[in-house]
Amino acid sequence: LLSSDGSTRPTIFAEMSALAARTGAINLGQGFPDEDGPAEVLDAARAAIAFGANQYPPGRGGAELREAIAAHRLRFHGVHLDPDRHVLVTAGATEALAAALLALVDGPQDEVVVFEPFYDAYAALVALSGARLVTVPLRFPDFQPDPEDLRAAVGDRTRVILVNDPHNPTGAVFSPSLRAEVVRLAHEYDAWIVTDEVYEHLVFEGRHASIAAMPGAWERTVSISSGGKTFSTTGWKIGWATGPADLIDAIVAVKQYLTYSGGAPFQPAIAAGLRLPDAWFSTIADTLRQKRDLLGDGLRAAGFDVSVPAATYFTVVDAQALGVVDADSFCREMAERIGVVAVPVTAFVRPEARPSVASLIRFAACKQVGVLEEAVHRLSRLR
Ligand code: PMP
Ligand code: GLN
Repeated sequence: LLSSDGSTRPTIFAEMSALAARTGAINLGQGFPDEDGPAEVLDAARAAIAFGANQYPPGRGGAELREAIAAHRLRFHGVHLDPDRHVLVTAGATEALAAALLALVDGPQDEVVVFEPFYDAYAALVALSGARLVTVPLRFPDFQPDPEDLRAAVGDRTRVILVNDPHNPTGAVFSPSLRAEVVRLAHEYDAWIVTDEVYEHLVFEGRHASIAAMPGAWERTVSISSGGKTFSTTGWKIGWATGPADLIDAIVAVKQYLTYSGGAPFQPAIAAGLRLPDAWFSTIADTLRQKRDLLGDGLRAAGFDVSVPAATYFTVVDAQALGVVDADSFCREMAERIGVVAVPVTAFVRPEARPSVASLIRFAACKQVGVLEEAVHRLSRLR
């Protein structure tokens, strides 16, 4: 009952990566990099294994990583954290999201507000928590929420406003005024704010701003991030939740029975990553911006209408100009026809919203330049 169409089929990412493997197509579907991250991080994991960091770490995470997370939140977001009370290490951002929703939501009378399209796990996790999903639409091509739509979605039943910023799948970065409106509404309706900031370092202009740093936000906000995207270690699943002690305690109470703890040798390695100099973080964003531009130019030349993302691995296009009315089947054909895999945006919406995104497709740019060039070459055959 957890997939958006009520079936038990695998996620769109599993399905499309299997399609790429079967057809030998270039996989611009599932968002993962095809190169390793920084040597400091990889070496630290090897060293930690050799040093014997191979048993259960503490339930809240090892002290070194909790301290590194606190120092990183202060350096990049100006948020002061006590590593012992305000930080929880999780099995990826996904477990932090799951534990936060399970902890904060009571049952079917509660509503969780999300921006749609949304990362596919959101609908499933809200379903697991027993709450009702309420959506705020993001529309092609700028995908900025209309504050009126947000106000219409939030009300007395709202328990959590879940904000994914920078946003998957659209690549949008929300405006300061929209973030302020989230905080204002959370106060007005006494709701919690849960932020998913896994793309915080993949922002192309300026720096990511965390809602928790805004006036009045801290006491009702849980901020979630992870090391997977920043350090190109998506398979390590080291994530974290930060926030006020009472909220983190409630999330720990759930998390301890989900996985208890995990990723022992990867924890000090992600800590080493979080301590890398500012220049390293700006370089990864610059490199990804060049890839975004390479892919975006190729998609435009192939005839798509392109929404230029402000952040993330992803670019969403409208394929209507190519005569596509059903991106679901088009993406499956494209693998066979030209050898490129992408993901239909229908995978990121409720079944009833599918018609509104029927011709939208998400491409991932987090691949080596040579791979993107070959993909662009293949895409030119669509014309
Ligand atoms: N949130 C968003 C918006 C994502 O795109 C992803 C996955 N890539 C996750 C959460 C999951 O992060 P993790 O792998 O750290 O669980
Ligand atoms: N977050 C990645 C994406 O959006 C995929 C994660 C997954 O495979 N579940 O592509």
